[in-house]
Amino acid sequence: EEIAFRVIRPYAGESIPDNVLFEMVKETINFPIPLVQLSEEIFSLELFHGPTLAFKDVGARFMSRCLGYFSKDRKEKVIVLVATSGDTGGAVADGFYNVPGVEVVILFPSGKVSDIQEKQLTTLGKNIHALEVKGNFDDCQALVKQAFADRELNSDYFLTSANSINVARWLPQQFYYFFAYKQWKYKDQPPVISVPSGNFGNICAGILAQASGLPVKHFIAACNVNDVVPRFLDSGKYEPKKAIATLSNAMDVGNPSNFVRIMEIVEEEIGELKEKVSGYSITDQETVATMKFLKERYRYVADPHGAVGYLSLSRYLNEHRKEKGIFLETAHPVKFLKEVEAAVGGQIEIP
Ligand SMILES: *Cc1c(COP(=O)(O)O)cnc(C)c1O
Repeated sequence: EEIAFRVIRPYAGESIPDNVLFEMVKETINFPIPLVQLSEEIFSLELFHGPTLAFKDVGARFMSRCLGYFSKDRKEKVIVLVATSGDTGGAVADGFYNVPGVEVVILFPSGKVSDIQEKQLTTLGKNIHALEVKGNFDDCQALVKQAFADRELNSDYFLTSANSINVARWLPQQFYYFFAYKQWKYKDQPPVISVPSGNFGNICAGILAQASGLPVKHFIAACNVNDVVPRFLDSGKYEPKKAIATLSNAMDVGNPSNFVRIMEIVEEEIGELKEKVSGYSITDQETVATMKFLKERYRYVADPHGAVGYLSLSRYLNEHRKEKGIFLETAHPVKFLKEVEAAVGGQIEIP
């Protein structure tokens, strides 16, 4: 709690009293975030031990507490609008469930979220409203952005975002990069950190943590075939595309919202970006093979996103033999039960 409090305090400034902020941070991270060793040079940072089994619990829990604090004297209802590719909606729904004065409206792409994700979105009821959209995540996100740009709508309702465009969700994601380093045992050799990336909020928080002094050797943007950023790193051209559906569906993003933030941190210098970040693009077939490999080689069950993170990291380490690294395991394997069970050939227990 002390680490997280110190990380977030400069961003809160005078706007939240220290004792309140400390309480918010404490509630945000009330679950373990262990660094699990797989081999001499590869570790998994398990971000999935929160209430909805995904790393997004960290940002969603902090944000909901901020909003609760800042809107406590407000008379009209706050409406939280959120587009989800699967995990955001669940984490936000859980974070805001039963919070007085807040209604949550979640837009999710029809048929493109897993069974467990869909249940997390649609079964809470009360102040949580899920809308099933014919289309993909980018379509959901476009609708949300359109709503925020609509003057008339915004004069009638107090709308706010719970996507990682909201800094209250994005900034606290720095916490677990610091927790990873706390558990890192090679203190004279900073880790390479591989981040399964879709909308690029998570990796962008890591880059911000590094900019504020955290020792990180290099970042890896681990993508599925939605490879806009890896291609940008190769060619210098940023060309958004329509998202392609994959097994790692939380990363099916064709035009990542947070990319502009990353460019801002590196002052629009692609050279500087390349020094900090490498990109990899992994196919579904490789993802399945990696889940199988991890189970057989290390008795480790990874979800498809973690598998993309692992394979990207191991490719990078093959080219940089002396380095050691961490991949972020961003969701619990049960969130993708069918795919994971098929890949590892066995049942996995639902916590
Ligand atoms: C959201 C999500 C990602 C992608 O994170 P971004 O911050 O959008 O890059 C990766 N894995 C899982 C499991 C997610 O839910």
